[in-house]
Amino acid sequence: MSNRRIGVMGGTFDPVHHGHLVAASEVQARFDLDEVVFVPTGQPWQKSEREVSAAEDRYLMTVIATASNPRFSVSRVDIDRPGPTYTIDTLTDLKVGRPDADLFFITGADALEQILSWRRADDVFGLAHFIGVTRPGYELDDTHLPPGAVSLVEVPAMAISSTAVRARTAAGLPVWYLVPDGVVQYISKRRLYSMPD
Ligand code: ATP
Ligand code: MG
Repeated sequence: MSNRRIGVMGGTFDPVHHGHLVAASEVQARFDLDEVVFVPTGQPWQKSEREVSAAEDRYLMTVIATASNPRFSVSRVDIDRPGPTYTIDTLTDLKVGRPDADLFFITGADALEQILSWRRADDVFGLAHFIGVTRPGYELDDTHLPPGAVSLVEVPAMAISSTAVRARTAAGLPVWYLVPDGVVQYISKRRLYSMPD
């Protein structure tokens, strides 16, 4: 039997939106993945420019958004590990539960640019194959990446960002159809994003 092929979709998911879901679905189909695991990042311990929503809220919204897809799941490895999230730790922890799996780390064009600045970038490429997906507003440029380590995939263009969803919510504008219905309802129930970033 061949190894299970597991996609890994890391993100802050504050909140998860249809851009994330379309990208994961497209890569699942194109790479014949058995499963795509969404991995919400841990809580940043240092305050960055903005306060990120509680890990539990981001986790639950990701569960709500992915629950209906039998190939999608959500992992707590990053939110249960103290300290900032490094992709090397995410991939190492996911491997522990799935020693025979082939991992495919899915990342948008913007995040791909940052890969080379990651801590222990070279080790990371040994743990997973990287898949860079197109994202409106960002150039996909693999010229500085190790040859063969990254596949570039064009996904249906969804000009959606979590930043825009938060800003629209704060401004009282609708986010229906940008995020799954259950996520709209969760945002409202928990009164998330009522203040501008
Ligand atoms: P924020 O605006 O808060 O940064 P975001 O929309 O960029 O949120 P993240 O959680 O930062 O969402 O992104 C997780 C991953 O999903 C990243 O690899 C990112 O590049 C990718 N991604 C996010 N939105 C899209 C989109 N619309 N199309 C394709 N990829 C996306
Ligand atoms: Mg982002």
